[in-house]
Amino acid sequence: MIPNAKPTASHFINGAYVEDKTGAPIDVIYAATGELVAQVHEATEALVDSALDAATAAQKIWAAMTGTERGRILRRAADIMRERNRDLSVLETIDTGKPLQETLVADATSGADALEYFGGLAASLTGEHIDLGGDFVYTRREPLGVVVGIGAWNYPTQICCWKAAPALACGNAIVFKPSEETPLCALQVAEILTEAGAPAGLINIVQGRGAVGAKLVTDARVAKVSLTGSVPTGRKVAAAAAEGLKHVTMELGGKSPLVIFDDADLDDAVSGAINGNFYSSGQVCSNGTRVFVQKGIKEAFLTRLADRLKGAVIGDPLDENVNFGPMVSARQLDIVKTYIAKGQAEGARLVAGGNCPDGAGNFIEPTVFADVSDDMTIAREEIFGPVMAVLDFDTEAEALARANDTEFGLAAGVFTRDIHRAHRMVAGFEAGTCYINSYNDAPVEAPFGGSKLSGIGRENSKAAINHYSELKTVYVGMGKVEAAF
Ligand code: NDP
Repeated sequence: MIPNAKPTASHFINGAYVEDKTGAPIDVIYAATGELVAQVHEATEALVDSALDAATAAQKIWAAMTGTERGRILRRAADIMRERNRDLSVLETIDTGKPLQETLVADATSGADALEYFGGLAASLTGEHIDLGGDFVYTRREPLGVVVGIGAWNYPTQICCWKAAPALACGNAIVFKPSEETPLCALQVAEILTEAGAPAGLINIVQGRGAVGAKLVTDARVAKVSLTGSVPTGRKVAAAAAEGLKHVTMELGGKSPLVIFDDADLDDAVSGAINGNFYSSGQVCSNGTRVFVQKGIKEAFLTRLADRLKGAVIGDPLDENVNFGPMVSARQLDIVKTYIAKGQAEGARLVAGGNCPDGAGNFIEPTVFADVSDDMTIAREEIFGPVMAVLDFDTEAEALARANDTEFGLAAGVFTRDIHRAHRMVAGFEAGTCYINSYNDAPVEAPFGGSKLSGIGRENSKAAINHYSELKTVYVGMGKVEAAF
């Protein structure tokens, strides 16, 4: 039995749930069975307009509060999220199909971390004083105004919190549009923040497909757009935002390299490759999907990996013993199947998985290809599914050059016991987030984001503050004003 996941209403605007069935319906399908579990409706133009009006008004009230007061509300929201972690995790599982075993530790908890971290920073956001030996300058750190957040479907709670927490800490208001695939979780974030004391209108959730997102991006009331999505959408959204010279943060896709040297701890390296390819059934932007293994350990690596894959428990993600769930949608499953067929057609060696288990749901086995070459489609394009490509290499210089030979630059990892080599490799990686003897950890304290086509800006950490606020410079004259005439 799937627990009831029906939301109170489709949207959350100006501090309350709002229903309006005029907009096109969006079905919420449980990915493990194909059952319809809820339905929401796209926001009409009038609803988008009311969300932006509410945000504009709330932002002024919020920015007039002290950072301490704002921080207290964010931290209270973090506490409520943690108290409700189980219910929120069940909802996340129903919304996305990710195993409850994962969502219990990775979604509302990560969202709560962001609210707590940025809530803690809110009171200490300051400008600076610059002495000019008489005259002086001070800077004020000011909010941007209304921020629009647009989310992908893989981490609907986390993405909403990763955008809302720094935006609100800096004194902005937010209008967030979830992915049409996963509309449910962000509503809970807005409800919790409101319960914690956020003024009505500070966080608004509007449902819709790309067109609703596009409407938000081009609205004159909006000062900043933060998107998590694919590179093609990022290009469109950044171009639309550029018309109004709006600030942007772009968290986009990747095809990240994970380089494993002969001297690596083999078990750790296999664990890193599993975490970097099969967590959330491979639907993670920073996944290390090009696994470069030095020739000396290639066969040992593949043998150990095959052994560890026997531990994958595929099934209903609401069952806490299951550690590998379905793809989010039938459409995404088809994309993954097409890539697997391409891998086989282009001559890669399928060493594990590749099949869809019998029965309903968007399931596909964790899949590993060996003997992959750099020019194969599965080594060049982001699949966003559980497909690992193993490539072999001889030398460090060769591995680095091939790792960087991609238009993406989100993440990169290296497994080796040689500390000099590890630091040489990360210094050479063209990627925003690098890992040494670890993979895919994303604590809120650390900046996260991409280079090259993988994005602009950084989420999390103190670095995010610069992307959600701007400095105003105030020059103060202390003497007589001289003029040429
Ligand atoms: P999409 O790019 O298809 O969609 C992202 C969001 O943008 C959705 O809410 C989508 O709405 C919306 N959108 C689509 N077109 C427009 C438009 N013209 N204007 C405004 N908004 C628009 O990505 P997916 O949802 O398919 O997510 C997968 C992608 O996200 C992968 O490439 C992945 O790598 C990336 N990603 C990046 C992360 C990062 O932090 N770097 C993290 C997670 C995912 P709708 O859903 O209705 O299409």
